[in-house]
Amino acid sequence: MKIDLRKLAYSDTIPFSGTADLSDETLYGAKPFQSPVTYSGTVTNQLDVLRLTGEVKTTYHTCCARCLKPLQIPLSADVDVVLSRNAADEGEEEEVFHIEGNEFEAEDIFVPALILQVDMIYLCRQDCKGLCPSCGCNLNESVCSCGSKQADPRMAVLAKLLEGNEGRQD
Ligand SMILES: [Zn+2]
Ligand SMILES: [Zn+2]
Repeated sequence: MKIDLRKLAYSDTIPFSGTADLSDETLYGAKPFQSPVTYSGTVTNQLDVLRLTGEVKTTYHTCCARCLKPLQIPLSADVDVVLSRNAADEGEEEEVFHIEGNEFEAEDIFVPALILQVDMIYLCRQDCKGLCPSCGCNLNESVCSCGSKQADPRMAVLAKLLEGNEGRQD
């Protein structure tokens, strides 16, 4: 959503809200933004300093890193940046977003702020037991008999290779 700063000629604040479509955005090999991404904020002019404050939120779709259970994580970020037309402006204490002309794209600020909140992995619970490396059963839900003869992962690789060779002989 483009915000037109010329509105500040009539008012000290520009309130706005919008929705970003990130459904095609790929992150960590998945497309996790299948829920609407909504944002709302206000641009204020205080003694010629333009400031944007607001919030962006969505529900992040991912899977438990251990057991692959689908997870929906509420995600949100607060935004507080100074808008500057001066490219040399570097915020020392405040974040500065550089703009040109009289308008800017709100998503250019809100989307990166939201993505910063994403963790690399999520677990369904801290002590998730994950999947059995041998039979693939969910160890949170059931107990398999593989545990007793704990498979050596190197042996598993070897077994896979042998399987492959047998396949080729056919
Ligand atoms: Zn899990
Ligand atoms: Zn098992």
